[in-house]
Amino acid sequence: MEKPNRVLQRLRTVFGPNTAYSGSETTPFRILVGTLLSARTKDLTTARVAHALFAKYPDAPSLAKASIGDIEKIIRPIGFFHAKARYVKTLAQKLVAEFDGQVPDTMDALVSLPGVGRKTASCVLNYAFQKPAIAVDVHVHRISNWLRLVKTKTPEQTEMALKQIYRQSQWRHVNNAFVLHGQNVCLPASPKCSICVLNELCPKRRQAPEMPLKARFLESRKVFNQSWRIKGFQDANRPVPLVGKQIGREKKRINSDEPNGNVK
Ligand code: SF4
Repeated sequence: MEKPNRVLQRLRTVFGPNTAYSGSETTPFRILVGTLLSARTKDLTTARVAHALFAKYPDAPSLAKASIGDIEKIIRPIGFFHAKARYVKTLAQKLVAEFDGQVPDTMDALVSLPGVGRKTASCVLNYAFQKPAIAVDVHVHRISNWLRLVKTKTPEQTEMALKQIYRQSQWRHVNNAFVLHGQNVCLPASPKCSICVLNELCPKRRQAPEMPLKARFLESRKVFNQSWRIKGFQDANRPVPLVGKQIGREKKRINSDEPNGNVK
């Protein structure tokens, strides 16, 4: 199997159906606003602030009428709250004025909204509409370059390059797999190379694997499950973390999804 497929399948085996999208919000409007709020902010802080904002302003029409001062008061715990308050209000106004209060589901329309770039638009397409898109954040950009899947300088270049090497049916899995790997195992300052399932495939590895591949799947999953609990995002809607034999079943599921490859 070629390297890009092997990378994606191994990461999907570790992280299963869990999602990199940190909010528990599910409507396109809430996913869009939540993603805007999340820039340079910890996941848990974003989730709490978004929850409070949507409790008072659940949709575009209500947020469009909110005062900037009240939005700022609610979202104050997050970074750049002055600018983000203005963005989300003008965004809601534009949705009401031009899109009948609904979030559009095309890249061109999404990037025409205030504060929405390709990364946010791709997140919305991916997580709100289940459309093929690759949202490139710092993790996706860094890890795909570290693995030499791409050789790029900007996230936009990375997005285009990844779209060349992955089939369209794989696009919506790329952000999820790479972000969760970057948050849990391939940490920017201290990557856990000894337990990494990509160790043999990675030119940037800092040390050899400490255990066989199968044990690294389990170890990476353990790290992920622990951090997931610490973040406090697991709720009734979250898939139950996989352990032991369940990983074998997950491999089968992924292989049936991706007929051209096998998880080794
Ligand atoms: S081997 Fe290390 S540097 Fe390479 S992907 Fe794994 S954790 Fe990251």
